Amino acid sequence: ASSNIPERMRAIRVPETGEIDVISAQDIAVPEPGADEVLIKVSWAGVNYIDTYQRSGLYTLPLPFTAGMEAAGKVVKFGKDADDSSLKVGDAVAAYALGAYAEYMTVKREKVVKLPDGVSEKDGATAILQGLTAWTLLHEAYQVKKGDAVLIHAAAGGVGLLLCQMASYLGATVIGTVSTEEKAALAKSNGASHVINSKSGGAAVVDEVLKLTKGEGVQGIYDGVGKDTWEDGFKMIARKGTIVSFGNASGAVPPFPVLKLAAKNTKVVRPTLNNSILTRQELETYSAQLFDLLAKKLVKLRVHKEYPFSAEGVQQTQKDITSRATTGKLLIKVQQ
Ligand code: NDP
Repeated sequence: ASSNIPERMRAIRVPETGEIDVISAQDIAVPEPGADEVLIKVSWAGVNYIDTYQRSGLYTLPLPFTAGMEAAGKVVKFGKDADDSSLKVGDAVAAYALGAYAEYMTVKREKVVKLPDGVSEKDGATAILQGLTAWTLLHEAYQVKKGDAVLIHAAAGGVGLLLCQMASYLGATVIGTVSTEEKAALAKSNGASHVINSKSGGAAVVDEVLKLTKGEGVQGIYDGVGKDTWEDGFKMIARKGTIVSFGNASGAVPPFPVLKLAAKNTKVVRPTLNNSILTRQELETYSAQLFDLLAKKLVKLRVHKEYPFSAEGVQQTQKDITSRATTGKLLIKVQQ
């Protein structure tokens, strides 16, 4: 198979941080897998909000870099220590790793998961990052319990729709926030019992959440919006509740005094997917659970749009995801 691997490939790169137009296509060498790495021929790559933080410099990476944090495709080559016979050339796999917007990418063996029958490469690229994020947030950041009321911000987004479905599957009553009526309908059809339009303002959201929970507040808040929703979280969290801050779509959360937590014995956690699935065992356990939910159709995937594999295509994904006009997943069709 390695004889079919070309020497050069197209990759979508960030040569320097800045506005969306820094994103450019380059012809670069196909990377050689390091000893513990696998070379993957990428078919689909998933778009994530983190792409925008890495491009703008909110999260810093060594420059230049090939963009894209998740992909699915086929194994084409192993590094000398990476072939542990659990994978073979031609296997369909998914990976959560930097460098996905390229025809080929190298990934450490321990970061690659084999896709089972019933989960296509397209589904793998749609679900691996946001699906594992939602699932680990619900198990580790705040473990949802049957009968809980939880608040999910940006409920019609990529992570949001998955959180709604999974939290309701786990027995919680889901209250979602969204910015349009169309998104409200979508969140409802994905497991949210109540959806509040955040365009009516933070105070209206707080009032509605308190009304829905008879003044008690919610046991968990899943907040990927960040700056704009942070402060109100403290008004809506129940006594002993957990605020899970996992993103910055509206800007980073500011520093806060720890004494703020004393008012209701509030817990605040700030997890990253990477730390939740750092070991191969963690990744494999959680991915198996995720793939099972997908294969049994207990969780449905929604693709907002497929974008072309070009600088313009990737630029457009970042314009769209930051415009608040997308729902579900944005995908890049790399090569079929
Ligand atoms: P989304 O599809 O959720 O897109 C972001 C959504 O945030 C928008 O659709 C919008 O929904 C909402 N939003 C609210 N305020 C703003 C604003 N000022 N500008 C832009 N959007 C806003 O993206 P993802 O599913 O990819 O990611 C969701 C969040 O989860 C992000 O913050 C991301 O960084 C985080 N994340 C964190 C991970 C981790 O490991 N900690 C892993 C994966 C994702 P609406 O208009 O309805 O409010």
